[in-house]
Amino acid sequence: IYDFYRVQNILSIYIIESIRKYSHEFDIFELTASFVKLSNFISELVSLAYYEKILTLKVSEMYEKSLKDPLTGLYNRNKFNEIENTEFSRSKRYRIPLSVCLMDIDNFKVINDTYGHIIGDKILKTVGDLILQNIRKSDIAIRWGGEEFLILFTHTPLENAKVACKKLMEKIRDTEVKEENKTIKFSVSMGLTELKDGDEHFKKAIERADQALYNAKRSGKNRIEILT
Ligand code: GH3
Ligand code: MG
Ligand code: MG
Repeated sequence: IYDFYRVQNILSIYIIESIRKYSHEFDIFELTASFVKLSNFISELVSLAYYEKILTLKVSEMYEKSLKDPLTGLYNRNKFNEIENTEFSRSKRYRIPLSVCLMDIDNFKVINDTYGHIIGDKILKTVGDLILQNIRKSDIAIRWGGEEFLILFTHTPLENAKVACKKLMEKIRDTEVKEENKTIKFSVSMGLTELKDGDEHFKKAIERADQALYNAKRSGKNRIEILT
């Protein structure tokens, strides 16, 4: 935009100079009219460039917003498609370890039924915060469904992800949400897996994490199960 204004200024000076110099040879009114037209045209270009810039900013702002879950501030499922083209394909191509954890709050229906949806939401938000506080900046946390979360441990082999999951699980277990004179505690179950050579699509690894989570629920909840 600044460059456009500079061009406009330089052109103005040049044209005014020319009008002055050749005014005896040309029709001064016609020249002035042409100059005004040219000047208007450049102004239009300037505002177009300006609006294009604002529009581009707005679009990227809206895109970022469309990837976020408003309750927890974590990413939502829309982020999944992006991961397929970034973290997943990078890990596949360069054989960078990538671990995937699916986490689900235990007995959340009972919590909702006992304390109400507002407290349920407060617990969801608390779990979201705990995830963000306990994973690395390079890891990606997604609210996968109602009370289900997907955590992507980038550049992380299974053994290290297991340590991180255990730590997070303990933090969640130790957390108390207070409501009037009640103290609410809750736990989560986790299904953990690592990206394998045979995983043609990211979905394959997710399915394995889901199966591991199912095993964790079936064998008593409040635990981590691993599938390789
Ligand atoms: P499990 O231990 O096997 O996971 O049992 P569960 O009760 O946690 O699982 P279930 O799938 O039976 O219930 C999930 C509950 O989560 C039911 C639904 O009302 C609640 N839920 C989903 N999304 C939200 C939400 O955004 N806010 C609140 N407060 N509750 C939610
Ligand atoms: Mg649950
Ligand atoms: Mg669930």
